[in-house]
Amino acid sequence: MGFDAAFSRALAEKGWLGLTLPRAYGGAERGAFARFVIAEELLAAGAPVAAHWFADRQSAPLILKYGTEAQREFYLPRICAGEAFFCIGMSEPNSGSDLASIRTRAEKTPAGWRLQGQKIWTSNANHCHYMIALVRTSGRAEDRHKGLSQFIVDLKTPGITVRPIKDLAGDAHFSEVFFDNVELRNDALIGEEGAGWEQVTAELAFERSGPERLYSSLVLADTWLAWLRSRQNPTTAEVRLAGALIARLSALRAMSIAVTNKLESGESPVVEAALVKDLGTEFEQQLPVAIAGLLGANPDGEPCQQLSSTLLYTSMIAPAFSLRGGTREILRGMIARGLGLR
Ligand SMILES: Cc1cc2nc3c(=O)[nH]c(=O)nc-3n(C[C@H](O)[C@H](O)[C@H](O)COP(=O)(O)OP(=O)(O)OC[C@H]3O[C@@H](n4cnc5c(N)ncnc54)[C@H](O)[C@@H]3O)c2cc1C
Repeated sequence: MGFDAAFSRALAEKGWLGLTLPRAYGGAERGAFARFVIAEELLAAGAPVAAHWFADRQSAPLILKYGTEAQREFYLPRICAGEAFFCIGMSEPNSGSDLASIRTRAEKTPAGWRLQGQKIWTSNANHCHYMIALVRTSGRAEDRHKGLSQFIVDLKTPGITVRPIKDLAGDAHFSEVFFDNVELRNDALIGEEGAGWEQVTAELAFERSGPERLYSSLVLADTWLAWLRSRQNPTTAEVRLAGALIARLSALRAMSIAVTNKLESGESPVVEAALVKDLGTEFEQQLPVAIAGLLGANPDGEPCQQLSSTLLYTSMIAPAFSLRGGTREILRGMIARGLGLR
């Protein structure tokens, strides 16, 4: 969750942003697995990847697939250089899980579009250059999936106010974003007008299946394992938990790789991605609970300062793991539908 623009630029200098994008746009033209390996290593080390994360993971593939040539030429090289950071404007007050009911609206004007409304929980909006916003361009909220479109919104445009929200841990990772008669040019529209729902659905498969849905608590696991190694005699329960965590992580990783395989071959594995996210975030949330439980059960095993503070921080942010990117209940509904159960 750490946002560090200089770190993202250093990665870009190594050629590690936009790995899957064509060379013509500044990418490295590598496969999805090259990106998987880099993402995995960065997350395992707890690196501050937030600045480039959304652009690299989903905005760039979106622009590549649905953007005009002019949009590709303008945005993609800057994403690859770590100079254009994106946030994702989907959720609104009262329209989180029920995303199709969003009310933020873009009205056609002679010069382009006029945007009015509000987004909420927008990660990193206070630091990013652009938002990919899902908004209504025709019809009413009751029309659901019809009449939605996506826009690339330059967050410096007059009429935009970004107000950070503090979370339980005291950090302000996400924000409210207000649009008050924001004038957008015609070329802010990305993809087809009215096709926003299909575009967003495809984007969410990228958002839900990657290693970031398994590794949010991995720094805690590493810190705990290092502490276990430093002690003379780990208990049977500790050894058992270590084995169980690693076995579970290997299975989840194999599933995440399987979804990456499908994405790589051009499929849109929406249900499979939902399954990986649901199981992955459950693992991420159980990890701090299981470690805290063992520490509490063994009064002789006083944790070191680093383990205590990592455990405390992970425990405070863990509830968000199964909310961001679609809640557990919503994902399970999708899985049930995919299995023909509803
Ligand atoms: C750390 C974090 C970062 C985020 N970043 C972003 C971001 O960058 N961009 C963005 O657009 N959004 C972001 N979000 C918002 C996130 O996508 C929403 O919080 C999420 O979709 C839930 O929406 P909501 O908060 O409106 O809750 P609600 O939809 O009101 O849900 C409340 C509860 O009711 C349950 N529920 C709702 N509907 C149903 C149903 N039909 N069946 C069963 N249960 C149901 C939910 O599972 C949940 O437990 C972020 C959230 C978090 C926590």
